[in-house]
Amino acid sequence: MAKCEEGYLCEVCGEDVADVTVSDLYLRFVIGELDPETLHTAPERHIRCNPVLAQFIVDDAFEPVVVEGGFDKRLLDPAYVLKREDLITRGWRRLQELAGVEEMPITDYPLPEVRERLREEGSGDAGTVRRGDAETGDVGTGRQGNGVME
Ligand SMILES: [Zn+2]
Repeated sequence: MAKCEEGYLCEVCGEDVADVTVSDLYLRFVIGELDPETLHTAPERHIRCNPVLAQFIVDDAFEPVVVEGGFDKRLLDPAYVLKREDLITRGWRRLQELAGVEEMPITDYPLPEVRERLREEGSGDAGTVRRGDAETGDVGTGRQGNGVME
């Protein structure tokens, strides 16, 4: 049975955004351009209703989107366009994968390099200390023994 999460309406066309595979919000989340904390508060949109982003999806399964005007990718720097195409196309494919997954924490949704970045940013205090351990070879000395030290 499908999960009934209706009520996410596209702010552009007003239609229901049926699932993550067509969600602009989730696409921007998996490519690391949307803060996880704003995921539930930001307005939902269809991928196709945000053509400036959607034009970078290059996949046989995705009908190309063309933007008229200043944001047309054909007018942009080719190196930039290639980078955007790589990132956003991978993000879109990731969404198609996620649609088939039953249960997964939302923090596992993003692309691997984005997850890594989020982890580094999110781990804050503990993260910086721990990094040294592997390099100094000091692993095992008292790391697990909280309170045993004295
Ligand atoms: Zn829409």
